[in-house]
Amino acid sequence: MFSSVWKSVATSIETQLTSYYFRGSSKLAARGVAFTASVAGAGAGAGSLRRFLVVPFCRVNLQKVRTVGFRGMHSSLEDVKLDSMQVKILPALQDNYMYLIVDSKTHEAAVVDPVDPELVIKTVREENLKLNKVLTTHHHWDHAGGNEKLVKLWTGELQVYGGDDRIGAMTRKVRQDDTFTIGNLNVRCLSTPCHTSGHICYHVTASNSHDPGAVFTGDTLFQGGCGRFFEGTPQEMYDALCAKLSALPDDTKVFCGHEYTLQNMSFARHVEPDNKCIQTRIEWAKLRRASKDPTVPSTIGEEKSWNPFMRVHETTVQQHAGGQTNPVITMEMLRKEKDNFKA
Ligand SMILES: [Zn+2]
Repeated sequence: MFSSVWKSVATSIETQLTSYYFRGSSKLAARGVAFTASVAGAGAGAGSLRRFLVVPFCRVNLQKVRTVGFRGMHSSLEDVKLDSMQVKILPALQDNYMYLIVDSKTHEAAVVDPVDPELVIKTVREENLKLNKVLTTHHHWDHAGGNEKLVKLWTGELQVYGGDDRIGAMTRKVRQDDTFTIGNLNVRCLSTPCHTSGHICYHVTASNSHDPGAVFTGDTLFQGGCGRFFEGTPQEMYDALCAKLSALPDDTKVFCGHEYTLQNMSFARHVEPDNKCIQTRIEWAKLRRASKDPTVPSTIGEEKSWNPFMRVHETTVQQHAGGQTNPVITMEMLRKEKDNFKA
């Protein structure tokens, strides 16, 4: 009795908070955005491309002042080009990322976690894309909360994928190893329960290509960190990070759900103060964030080199967790410490 009353109170508070947030977010989106900067890869490539494009660089920065500073977006919009595929990074809310995955040949597109449907629709129209799929990583409102509105606003047919019955407007429920396509691109679903019990990561690769593609990790794997264990166990996060995601090729690009890199890397440095990969990435990320550039993507290989939650087998990480030799207990202890860590 008490628990059902509490549940309905909690649901009502969540609904009100969500609608309040969307009223704010819609206003923001209505003011629109004006540009996309083309970057050949969000790593070292970004700097070299900028040096190369001297004239557009001035224009891009002026526009960035308008879109990021004046219009209040947390990061600039960027494109990442992969073999036969383009990923458009779209910032949303305070620190979320939505992504448009585009098949370069057919211009068919899917959107990941479209919490700000107006920005998605504006970009799709400007770029003349054929949007027909929504990939939802998990049911939390800052990821799935725009699904219903997008389906309502969008004039064409949209298939909405997800792994949890709590996801709004879902038409295709997926499980581990389910596959589907976006034009000529192949998508494989990875079930990664723990942050939420129905969390799905999507690994996207091009047909007839050796490129390892990109994985969209929602709130399971962040750059330098991982999501909180709201509905799962340390063993499940271990399986997600150290078995399923670690098994992808090292060069697979990782597009995560939030811009949390600097906070996560600060914890990573606390765990492994002598890890040079962490130091270098912090310096790079500080420069990126100083000009509101996104720090995504990283790669699976990079995460293995600096993310403590993917390094629970390493002696340095285990020693930090009190001399544990069990990687799952190490995972549990790291998460508990991170939950209370002030960057
Ligand atoms: Zn979440």
